[in-house]
Amino acid sequence: MSATVVEIVKSKNLKQKPNDDKLGFGKYFTDHMFVMDYTSEKGWIQPKITPYEPISLDPAAVIFHYGQTVFEGMKAYRTSDNKILLFRPDENFKRLNMSSERLAMPPVNEEEVLEYLKQLINVEKDWVPTAEGTSLYIRPFIIATEAFLGLAASKQYKLVMILSPVGSYYTGGIKPVSIKVEEHYTRAVRGGTGMAKTAGNYCATFNAQTKATSEGFTQVLWLDAIEKKYVEEVGTSNAFFKVNGEVITPELSGSILPGITRKSVIEMLKDWGVPVTERKVSIEEIFQYHKEGTLEEVFSTGTAAVISSIGELEWNGQKITVNNNKIGDLSQKLYDTLTGIQTGKIADPYNWTT
Ligand code: PMP
Repeated sequence: MSATVVEIVKSKNLKQKPNDDKLGFGKYFTDHMFVMDYTSEKGWIQPKITPYEPISLDPAAVIFHYGQTVFEGMKAYRTSDNKILLFRPDENFKRLNMSSERLAMPPVNEEEVLEYLKQLINVEKDWVPTAEGTSLYIRPFIIATEAFLGLAASKQYKLVMILSPVGSYYTGGIKPVSIKVEEHYTRAVRGGTGMAKTAGNYCATFNAQTKATSEGFTQVLWLDAIEKKYVEEVGTSNAFFKVNGEVITPELSGSILPGITRKSVIEMLKDWGVPVTERKVSIEEIFQYHKEGTLEEVFSTGTAAVISSIGELEWNGQKITVNNNKIGDLSQKLYDTLTGIQTGKIADPYNWTT
Protein backbone atom coordinates (compact mmCIF):
# COMPACT_ATOMS: atom_id res chain seq x y z
CA MET A 1 0.00 0.00 0.00
CA SER A 2 1.45 3.33 -1.03
CA ALA A 3 0.34 6.45 0.75
CA THR A 4 0.62 8.63 -2.29
CA VAL A 5 -1.47 6.63 -4.77
CA VAL A 6 -5.15 6.33 -4.02
CA GLU A 7 -7.78 5.14 -6.46
CA ILE A 8 -10.01 8.11 -7.27
CA VAL A 9 -13.54 7.60 -8.61
CA LYS A 10 -14.90 11.01 -9.57
CA SER A 11 -18.53 11.94 -9.00
CA LYS A 12 -20.55 12.55 -12.16
CA ASN A 13 -23.11 14.74 -10.40
CA LEU A 14 -21.35 17.62 -8.71
CA LYS A 15 -23.44 19.43 -6.12
CA GLN A 16 -24.19 23.12 -6.05
CA LYS A 17 -22.06 24.72 -3.35
CA PRO A 18 -23.91 26.67 -0.64
CA ASN A 19 -23.18 30.37 -0.07
CA ASP A 20 -20.67 31.04 2.69
CA ASP A 21 -23.28 32.91 4.76
CA LYS A 22 -25.66 29.92 4.78
CA LEU A 23 -23.21 27.25 5.94
CA GLY A 24 -24.00 26.69 9.64
CA PHE A 25 -22.36 23.56 11.06
CA GLY A 26 -22.32 20.05 9.57
CA LYS A 27 -25.24 20.54 7.17
CA TYR A 28 -23.50 20.33 3.80
CA PHE A 29 -21.10 17.68 2.54
CA THR A 30 -18.69 17.77 -0.36
CA ASP A 31 -18.84 15.63 -3.53
CA HIS A 32 -16.33 12.98 -2.47
CA MET A 33 -15.24 10.97 0.55
CA PHE A 34 -12.33 8.72 1.49
CA VAL A 35 -12.95 5.06 2.33
CA MET A 36 -10.60 2.29 3.44
CA ASP A 37 -11.45 -1.19 4.78
CA TYR A 38 -9.82 -3.39 7.38
CA THR A 39 -9.87 -7.13 7.85
CA SER A 40 -7.93 -8.93 10.56
CA GLU A 41 -6.22 -11.05 7.87
CA LYS A 42 -5.17 -8.28 5.49
CA GLY A 43 -5.01 -5.14 7.64
CA TRP A 44 -6.06 -1.81 6.08
CA ILE A 45 -6.75 -2.25 2.37
CA GLN A 46 -8.17 -0.49 -0.68
CA PRO A 47 -7.80 3.19 0.20
CA LYS A 48 -9.95 5.15 -2.21
CA ILE A 49 -11.66 8.42 -2.89
CA THR A 50 -15.22 7.87 -4.10
CA PRO A 51 -18.33 9.95 -4.70
CA TYR A 52 -20.02 10.94 -1.40
CA GLU A 53 -22.75 8.34 -1.00
CA PRO A 54 -24.60 6.17 1.55
CA ILE A 55 -22.70 3.24 3.08
CA SER A 56 -24.33 -0.18 2.93
CA LEU A 57 -23.86 -2.33 6.05
CA ASP A 58 -25.16 -5.64 7.31
CA PRO A 59 -27.88 -5.08 9.96
CA ALA A 60 -25.82 -7.28 12.31
CA ALA A 61 -22.73 -5.03 11.98
CA VAL A 62 -21.12 -4.52 15.40
CA ILE A 63 -21.38 -0.72 15.18
CA PHE A 64 -25.22 -0.88 15.30
CA HIS A 65 -25.36 -3.02 18.42
CA TYR A 66 -22.32 -2.34 20.56
CA GLY A 67 -21.26 1.09 19.31
CA GLN A 68 -17.69 0.18 18.43
CA THR A 69 -16.63 3.37 16.67
CA VAL A 70 -14.23 6.31 17.01
CA PHE A 71 -14.07 9.69 15.29
CA GLU A 72 -12.05 12.89 14.94
CA GLY A 73 -12.81 16.52 14.16
CA MET A 74 -10.47 19.09 12.63
CA LYS A 75 -10.55 21.96 10.16
CA ALA A 76 -8.90 23.16 6.96
CA TYR A 77 -8.68 26.93 6.48
CA ARG A 78 -8.21 29.00 3.33
CA THR A 79 -5.56 31.71 3.61
CA SER A 80 -5.82 35.12 1.94
CA ASP A 81 -3.26 33.97 -0.66
CA ASN A 82 -5.42 30.93 -1.46
CA LYS A 83 -3.43 28.24 0.30
CA ILE A 84 -5.21 25.59 2.37
CA LEU A 85 -3.90 25.04 5.89
CA LEU A 86 -4.48 22.16 8.30
CA PHE A 87 -3.95 22.78 12.02
CA ARG A 88 -1.95 20.06 13.81
CA PRO A 89 -3.59 17.18 11.87
CA ASP A 90 -0.89 14.78 13.12
CA GLU A 91 -2.31 15.29 16.63
CA ASN A 92 -5.80 14.32 15.44
CA PHE A 93 -4.61 11.04 13.91
CA LYS A 94 -2.56 10.32 17.02
CA ARG A 95 -5.72 10.83 19.10
CA LEU A 96 -7.72 8.67 16.66
CA ASN A 97 -5.34 5.81 17.35
CA MET A 98 -5.50 6.43 21.09
CA SER A 99 -9.32 6.27 20.93
CA SER A 100 -9.14 3.10 18.82
CA GLU A 101 -6.88 1.46 21.35
CA ARG A 102 -9.44 2.09 24.11
CA LEU A 103 -12.22 0.62 21.94
CA ALA A 104 -10.15 -2.49 21.03
CA MET A 105 -9.90 -1.32 17.42
CA PRO A 106 -6.86 -1.58 15.10
CA PRO A 107 -4.58 1.45 14.66
CA VAL A 108 -4.07 3.22 11.32
CA ASN A 109 -0.76 4.41 9.91
CA GLU A 110 -1.02 8.07 10.98
CA GLU A 111 1.29 9.47 8.28
CA GLU A 112 -0.43 7.55 5.50
CA VAL A 113 -3.93 8.55 6.53
CA LEU A 114 -2.82 12.19 6.69
CA GLU A 115 -1.54 11.84 3.11
CA TYR A 116 -4.92 10.40 2.06
CA LEU A 117 -6.69 13.31 3.73
CA LYS A 118 -4.50 15.79 1.82
CA GLN A 119 -5.41 14.03 -1.43
CA LEU A 120 -9.12 14.18 -0.57
CA ILE A 121 -8.87 17.89 0.24
CA ASN A 122 -6.99 18.43 -3.00
CA VAL A 123 -9.90 16.87 -4.92
CA GLU A 124 -12.34 19.06 -2.94
CA LYS A 125 -10.27 22.24 -2.71
CA ASP A 126 -13.01 24.41 -4.22
CA TRP A 127 -15.20 23.46 -1.25
CA VAL A 128 -12.95 25.23 1.28
CA PRO A 129 -14.98 28.39 1.95
CA THR A 130 -13.42 31.84 1.77
CA ALA A 131 -15.48 34.13 4.04
CA GLU A 132 -13.95 35.26 7.34
CA GLY A 133 -14.37 32.63 10.06
CA THR A 134 -15.45 29.82 7.71
CA SER A 135 -13.56 26.55 7.21
CA LEU A 136 -13.80 23.01 5.91
CA TYR A 137 -14.64 20.69 8.80
CA ILE A 138 -13.03 17.25 8.49
CA ARG A 139 -14.66 14.21 10.06
CA PRO A 140 -12.62 10.98 9.96
CA PHE A 141 -14.36 8.02 11.62
CA ILE A 142 -13.99 4.27 11.94
CA ILE A 143 -16.90 1.86 12.31
CA ALA A 144 -16.98 -1.85 13.18
CA THR A 145 -18.53 -3.60 10.19
CA GLU A 146 -18.36 -7.31 10.98
CA ALA A 147 -21.80 -9.01 10.97
CA PHE A 148 -21.62 -10.75 14.34
CA LEU A 149 -23.79 -10.41 17.44
CA GLY A 150 -21.38 -12.14 19.79
CA LEU A 151 -19.92 -9.71 22.31
CA ALA A 152 -16.40 -9.30 20.97
CA ALA A 153 -14.37 -6.72 19.09
CA SER A 154 -15.17 -6.72 15.37
CA LYS A 155 -12.68 -8.28 12.96
CA GLN A 156 -13.65 -5.86 10.19
CA TYR A 157 -13.73 -2.06 10.07
CA LYS A 158 -14.26 0.82 7.70
CA LEU A 159 -12.43 4.15 7.92
CA VAL A 160 -14.29 7.01 6.26
CA MET A 161 -13.36 10.68 5.94
CA ILE A 162 -16.05 13.19 5.00
CA LEU A 163 -15.78 16.97 4.59
CA SER A 164 -18.28 19.68 5.45
CA PRO A 165 -17.90 23.42 4.76
CA VAL A 166 -18.85 25.23 7.98
CA GLY A 167 -19.77 28.79 8.84
CA SER A 168 -18.28 31.29 11.22
CA TYR A 169 -18.93 30.48 14.87
CA TYR A 170 -18.89 34.14 15.73
CA THR A 171 -20.43 36.92 13.74
CA GLY A 172 -19.71 40.29 15.29
CA GLY A 173 -17.07 39.18 17.82
CA ILE A 174 -17.03 36.62 20.61
CA LYS A 175 -20.09 36.81 22.87
CA PRO A 176 -19.59 35.26 26.30
CA VAL A 177 -21.93 32.34 26.93
CA SER A 178 -23.97 31.20 29.90
CA ILE A 179 -23.14 27.77 31.36
CA LYS A 180 -25.02 25.51 33.75
CA VAL A 181 -23.09 23.13 35.99
CA GLU A 182 -24.70 19.69 35.49
CA GLU A 183 -25.30 18.10 38.87
CA HIS A 184 -27.30 15.00 37.97
CA TYR A 185 -25.92 13.44 34.80
CA THR A 186 -22.32 12.43 34.19
CA ARG A 187 -20.38 12.53 30.92
CA ALA A 188 -17.63 10.05 31.67
CA VAL A 189 -15.95 8.09 34.43
CA ARG A 190 -12.32 7.36 35.08
CA GLY A 191 -11.52 3.96 33.66
CA GLY A 192 -14.36 4.40 31.17
CA THR A 193 -14.10 5.91 27.70
CA GLY A 194 -14.06 9.66 28.48
CA MET A 195 -10.60 10.20 27.03
CA ALA A 196 -11.61 8.53 23.75
CA LYS A 197 -13.57 10.23 20.99
CA THR A 198 -16.29 7.61 20.70
CA ALA A 199 -20.01 7.94 19.93
CA GLY A 200 -21.33 6.76 23.32
CA ASN A 201 -19.71 9.69 25.14
CA TYR A 202 -21.69 12.09 22.98
CA CYS A 203 -25.21 10.61 22.93
CA ALA A 204 -24.90 10.32 26.72
CA THR A 205 -24.87 14.14 26.89
CA PHE A 206 -27.93 14.89 24.75
CA ASN A 207 -30.58 14.94 27.49
CA ALA A 208 -28.59 17.22 29.83
CA GLN A 209 -27.70 19.49 26.91
CA THR A 210 -31.33 19.69 25.72
CA LYS A 211 -32.49 20.56 29.24
CA ALA A 212 -29.81 23.24 29.66
CA THR A 213 -30.69 24.79 26.28
CA SER A 214 -34.39 24.88 27.18
CA GLU A 215 -33.44 26.74 30.37
CA GLY A 216 -31.54 29.37 28.36
CA PHE A 217 -27.98 28.09 28.83
CA THR A 218 -25.58 27.50 25.96
CA GLN A 219 -23.78 24.49 27.40
CA VAL A 220 -23.38 22.37 30.49
CA LEU A 221 -20.25 22.10 32.60
CA TRP A 222 -19.52 18.50 33.52
CA LEU A 223 -18.28 17.51 36.97
CA ASP A 224 -16.41 14.33 37.87
CA ALA A 225 -18.64 11.28 38.18
CA ILE A 226 -17.71 10.15 41.68
CA GLU A 227 -17.60 13.18 43.95
CA LYS A 228 -19.54 15.57 41.70
CA LYS A 229 -17.02 18.13 42.78
CA TYR A 230 -14.23 18.60 40.25
CA VAL A 231 -14.56 20.40 36.91
CA GLU A 232 -14.12 18.12 33.89
CA GLU A 233 -15.26 19.74 30.62
CA VAL A 234 -17.65 22.33 29.20
CA GLY A 235 -19.92 20.69 26.62
CA THR A 236 -17.44 19.33 24.10
CA SER A 237 -14.60 21.67 25.01
CA ASN A 238 -11.89 21.93 27.67
CA ALA A 239 -12.26 24.35 30.60
CA PHE A 240 -9.82 27.10 31.66
CA PHE A 241 -9.97 29.58 34.58
CA LYS A 242 -7.79 32.65 35.02
CA VAL A 243 -7.39 33.32 38.73
CA ASN A 244 -5.20 36.14 39.99
CA GLY A 245 -2.99 36.05 36.91
CA GLU A 246 -2.62 32.25 36.87
CA VAL A 247 -4.38 30.00 34.37
CA ILE A 248 -5.79 26.74 35.77
CA THR A 249 -7.16 23.84 33.72
CA PRO A 250 -8.36 20.43 34.92
CA GLU A 251 -5.61 17.83 34.64
CA LEU A 252 -6.19 14.98 32.17
CA SER A 253 -7.74 12.50 34.54
CA GLY A 254 -8.75 9.74 32.12
CA SER A 255 -12.32 10.98 31.81
CA ILE A 256 -11.42 14.21 29.96
CA LEU A 257 -10.81 14.35 26.22
CA PRO A 258 -7.25 15.63 25.60
CA GLY A 259 -8.13 18.57 23.34
CA ILE A 260 -5.67 19.71 20.72
CA THR A 261 -6.76 23.31 21.25
CA ARG A 262 -6.21 22.77 24.99
CA LYS A 263 -2.69 21.50 24.34
CA SER A 264 -1.97 24.43 22.01
CA VAL A 265 -3.29 26.99 24.54
CA ILE A 266 -1.10 25.53 27.31
CA GLU A 267 1.94 25.65 25.01
CA MET A 268 1.22 29.26 24.01
CA LEU A 269 0.70 30.40 27.61
CA LYS A 270 4.00 28.82 28.65
CA ASP A 271 5.68 30.51 25.69
CA TRP A 272 4.21 33.88 26.74
CA GLY A 273 5.36 33.43 30.33
CA VAL A 274 1.80 33.20 31.72
CA PRO A 275 1.71 30.76 34.67
CA VAL A 276 -0.44 27.76 33.76
CA THR A 277 -1.29 24.82 36.01
CA GLU A 278 -2.95 21.50 35.17
CA ARG A 279 -4.59 20.22 38.33
CA LYS A 280 -7.83 19.10 39.93
CA VAL A 281 -10.05 22.15 40.37
CA SER A 282 -13.38 22.02 42.20
CA ILE A 283 -16.43 24.06 41.26
CA GLU A 284 -16.68 25.22 44.87
CA GLU A 285 -13.16 26.63 44.61
CA ILE A 286 -14.12 28.55 41.44
CA PHE A 287 -17.15 30.09 43.15
CA GLN A 288 -14.94 30.97 46.13
CA TYR A 289 -12.43 32.76 43.82
CA HIS A 290 -15.35 34.71 42.40
CA LYS A 291 -16.43 35.72 45.90
CA GLU A 292 -12.90 36.87 46.69
CA GLY A 293 -12.75 38.83 43.43
CA THR A 294 -9.85 36.85 41.93
CA LEU A 295 -11.74 34.96 39.19
CA GLU A 296 -10.67 37.00 36.17
CA GLU A 297 -11.62 34.95 33.11
CA VAL A 298 -13.33 31.66 32.28
CA PHE A 299 -13.10 30.17 28.81
CA SER A 300 -13.20 26.85 27.02
CA THR A 301 -11.24 25.53 24.06
CA GLY A 302 -12.09 23.30 21.09
CA THR A 303 -11.90 22.98 17.33
CA ALA A 304 -15.45 24.28 16.77
CA ALA A 305 -15.21 27.73 18.41
CA VAL A 306 -11.45 27.76 19.15
CA ILE A 307 -11.88 29.92 22.30
CA SER A 308 -15.30 30.34 23.87
CA SER A 309 -15.64 32.99 26.55
CA ILE A 310 -17.82 32.09 29.54
CA GLY A 311 -19.70 35.05 31.04
CA GLU A 312 -22.09 33.31 33.45
CA LEU A 313 -21.94 30.12 35.50
CA GLU A 314 -24.82 28.59 37.42
CA TRP A 315 -24.25 25.97 40.10
CA ASN A 316 -26.20 24.87 43.14
CA GLY A 317 -28.79 27.61 42.74
CA GLN A 318 -26.19 30.40 42.50
CA LYS A 319 -25.30 32.33 39.38
CA ILE A 320 -22.05 34.24 39.00
CA THR A 321 -21.03 36.71 36.31
CA VAL A 322 -17.41 36.67 35.17
CA ASN A 323 -15.56 39.80 33.99
CA ASN A 324 -18.88 41.71 33.68
CA ASN A 325 -19.94 39.23 30.99
CA LYS A 326 -17.25 40.56 28.67
CA ILE A 327 -14.48 38.64 26.95
CA GLY A 328 -11.22 38.89 28.91
CA ASP A 329 -7.98 40.22 27.46
CA LEU A 330 -6.19 36.88 27.66
CA SER A 331 -9.10 34.96 26.07
CA GLN A 332 -9.16 37.51 23.24
CA LYS A 333 -5.39 37.32 22.74
CA LEU A 334 -5.51 33.51 22.63
CA TYR A 335 -8.38 33.62 20.13
CA ASP A 336 -6.68 36.19 17.88
CA THR A 337 -3.35 34.36 17.94
CA LEU A 338 -4.73 30.86 17.37
CA THR A 339 -7.15 31.87 14.59
CA GLY A 340 -4.38 34.03 13.10
CA ILE A 341 -2.04 31.02 12.94
CA GLN A 342 -4.80 28.73 11.62
CA THR A 343 -5.71 31.06 8.77
CA GLY A 344 -2.14 32.09 7.95
CA LYS A 345 -2.77 35.74 8.95
CA ILE A 346 0.08 35.64 11.39
CA ALA A 347 3.32 33.69 11.13
CA ASP A 348 3.22 30.28 12.78
CA PRO A 349 6.11 30.23 15.26
CA TYR A 350 5.28 26.70 16.42
CA ASN A 351 5.13 24.83 13.10
CA TRP A 352 1.55 23.79 13.80
CA THR A 353 0.13 24.34 10.33
CA THR A 354 0.57 22.09 7.30
N1 PMP B 1 -13.77 17.69 24.82
C1 PMP B 1 -14.62 16.96 24.08
C2 PMP B 1 -15.52 16.00 24.75
C3 PMP B 1 -14.63 17.13 22.68
O1 PMP B 1 -15.46 16.40 21.92
C4 PMP B 1 -13.75 18.08 22.09
C5 PMP B 1 -13.78 18.30 20.60
N2 PMP B 1 -12.94 17.40 19.93
C6 PMP B 1 -12.88 18.79 22.92
C7 PMP B 1 -12.91 18.57 24.28
C8 PMP B 1 -11.88 19.76 22.35
O2 PMP B 1 -10.91 19.09 21.62
P1 PMP B 1 -10.16 19.80 20.39
O3 PMP B 1 -9.51 21.01 20.94
O4 PMP B 1 -9.17 18.79 19.93
O5 PMP B 1 -11.20 20.10 19.38
